Amino acid sequence: MSPAVKRNILLTPGPATTTESVKWSQVVPDICPREAVFGEIMEHISTELTHLVGDPEHDQTVLFGGSGTAAVESMISSVPGHNAMIIVNNGAYGKRMCEIAEVYGINYLEFKSPYDDALDLDALEKYIQSSDRIISHLAVVHHETTTGLLNNVEEIGLLCKKHQIDMMVDAMSSFAAIPLQMKKMNISFLASSSNKNLQGMPGVSFVIAEKSKLENLKEKKPRSYYLNLYAQYQYFAEKGQMRFTPPVQTLYALRQAIQELKQEGVAQRYERYKASWKTLISGLKRLGLTYLVPDEYHSKIITSILEPYSGFDFESMHDYFYSKGIMIYPGKLDGLKTFRIANIGDITSKDIEVFLELLTDYLGNTK
Ligand SMILES: *Cc1c(COP(=O)(O)O)cnc(C)c1O
Repeated sequence: MSPAVKRNILLTPGPATTTESVKWSQVVPDICPREAVFGEIMEHISTELTHLVGDPEHDQTVLFGGSGTAAVESMISSVPGHNAMIIVNNGAYGKRMCEIAEVYGINYLEFKSPYDDALDLDALEKYIQSSDRIISHLAVVHHETTTGLLNNVEEIGLLCKKHQIDMMVDAMSSFAAIPLQMKKMNISFLASSSNKNLQGMPGVSFVIAEKSKLENLKEKKPRSYYLNLYAQYQYFAEKGQMRFTPPVQTLYALRQAIQELKQEGVAQRYERYKASWKTLISGLKRLGLTYLVPDEYHSKIITSILEPYSGFDFESMHDYFYSKGIMIYPGKLDGLKTFRIANIGDITSKDIEVFLELLTDYLGNTK
């Protein structure tokens, strides 16, 4: 029997709290990742991930060693050609995609939208129609982890289809909880990672795409060496290996995490997250705290809360919770004082209740 590992409660938007079994699944005999058996493990992981949002006959998951941004950067740097790409920016992660496009000198247009309200689809369509450039791609964040704002990718996908635009989705903090279907939603490329709703360890990120769209990248001159999406896809298809050293133990943990996701079910996982969110919100209301984004556009996965009083010191509240084995996260919005509480990972409403009790004490003693 493996000894118990201390259980911390991570109320951060990833890495999230993992199960004891996911933690221990990393302790395995050393193996060279170029061995065929390890290739089979990666193949299995890829197929399972594809199954969550698509059809392994037509779609392929391309695995990378690296945090989530690696997958987003691979997608943005590898896919667009000379024609323009629209990037929807309604939060820090939309802005990050603009910054990536800037680094690679990609022909992109930034479509800005409020960080706390639904995207205006009519305005987006007018923007597409009135542009003097040919728009071939559109990139959008599904769930803006900055605020909890959920972008309606299904409707954006319909718009893209109508205008023959390929949609790329950063689904980092929605994948494996909020239902996604590549075909139904007209998603051509999707990026996510191992350590958010998948409840695995950090270190693996991936792009899921239609195989035919990946094949179409073949003739393109690569902009990046390491993050070349076509090369990573092609190498794995041919050799059953990643091009460069994979995070071996993180992949064992991911395999276990996927098994646990299948046991729970994606829909049930989201129900558990939503139950925790309801507990969180009623507690915040009791304490007179307010949060951003109206409930109808809210993911119920992460909440951006306005600081409770002027002179509030987030660092000292962070340290207080840290000493109790609970980790919380600062805000990520320019010009607005917020902190964030996520309710993903292997936690339940009970953990949120513990957090709320401590929060009540802390605010009572510091105000
Ligand atoms: C977490 C996250 C990322 C990637 O962050 P990493 O720190 O690179 O793992 C990208 N986009 C969104 C929306 C995220 O929530």
